[in-house]
Amino acid sequence: MKIDFYKHNIESSDIDTADEVLKSLFLTTGQKVSEFETKFSQYLGTSHTIGVMSCTAALHLCLVAWGIGEGDEVITTPMSFCATANAILYVNAVPVFVDVEEGTGNINAELIESKITKKTKAIMPVHLYGQMCDMRKIRDIANRHGLIVIEDCAHCVEGQRDGVKVGELGDAACFSFYTIKNITSGEGGAITTNNDEKARLLYMLRLHGIDKSAAERYTKKYAHWDMTMLGWKCNMDNIRAALLIGQLERIEKLWAKRDEKAKKYTEAFKDLSGVRLTAEVPNSKHAHHIFTIGVANRDEMLTELQDAGIGVAVNYRPIHLLDYYRRRFGYKEGDFPVAEQIGSATITLPLYPKLMDEEQDYIINTVRSIITKRGSGQ
Ligand SMILES: *Cc1c(COP(=O)(O)O)cnc(C)c1O
Repeated sequence: MKIDFYKHNIESSDIDTADEVLKSLFLTTGQKVSEFETKFSQYLGTSHTIGVMSCTAALHLCLVAWGIGEGDEVITTPMSFCATANAILYVNAVPVFVDVEEGTGNINAELIESKITKKTKAIMPVHLYGQMCDMRKIRDIANRHGLIVIEDCAHCVEGQRDGVKVGELGDAACFSFYTIKNITSGEGGAITTNNDEKARLLYMLRLHGIDKSAAERYTKKYAHWDMTMLGWKCNMDNIRAALLIGQLERIEKLWAKRDEKAKKYTEAFKDLSGVRLTAEVPNSKHAHHIFTIGVANRDEMLTELQDAGIGVAVNYRPIHLLDYYRRRFGYKEGDFPVAEQIGSATITLPLYPKLMDEEQDYIINTVRSIITKRGSGQ
């Protein structure tokens, strides 16, 4: 059997919507982007969505919009994709890592306050694998210390915890529509915020700091535009928005399929010694972006799974031990032991709505037989 690590959920109806855009005059940021932004805001119950080209750009622009820069410190997690910490470096601020919870891999909110200094300006939590961080606690800490909260929601559009949705308690939330994310346009991203003033700023920052969008400049009578601040070039285009609109309408159905499959994995592995599962947070809705297991001799098992035709990934080797971060900041093994322990044992198994029952059974049986063989010392 050959089982892909991921399959996207773009349907022919989405391609038809994109096709209409392609056959129209206006390909870049315009009406389809506005439509997607409105629908995304409605889904999350937020005031504003700003469509951009990646979650990385979203994180970067939020730091700029909230005035975080040279010498400032931003508290974040080492157990994430490098984009989270890289965005902090783009504004010449310093990422300050806080170790994670053993059960969930999310930033350990109990440890945040010990890392707050006079230079701390923001907290950037990541809702790892689709399970939300303790946002009530994080918001409370931020309020007491006058900090901004920017949520990295690349794994979590559908999540909730203690009655709170993603983006609800953060000053801003950043989303990814990269190829393997819950909904995708190949590349893409978005920012949500309830702050009207920052939303206006972010619409400009995504397009060079220009005060009129291309749609305003060219679809109506030509109007002179001005550039009032230095912005970037990362505006979402109509083609991508068209691909996302239908997926957003189906997002709960897609989630329900991943939820069912995640439960099946959990059921299959929960009594298997030699496999460690992520702890589930009570009173929450897990977005189930990816499903991970923790095993000894991880790299050996990665090879065995791939030899059996199963697509796998590692989410993540911790950021502080990546070559660039080691060299620039002098990080070493032992600095964030919980993140390192997860990073050295974790394997991501295929989890997506199109994963078929017989494929999932094959994955489960393959993992079981590898573990059993190890146990018997063969
Ligand atoms: C994918 C991902 C990103 C980056 O998303 P892009 O849209 O590719 O920039 C950021 N953070 C996390 C946790 C991710 O998984």
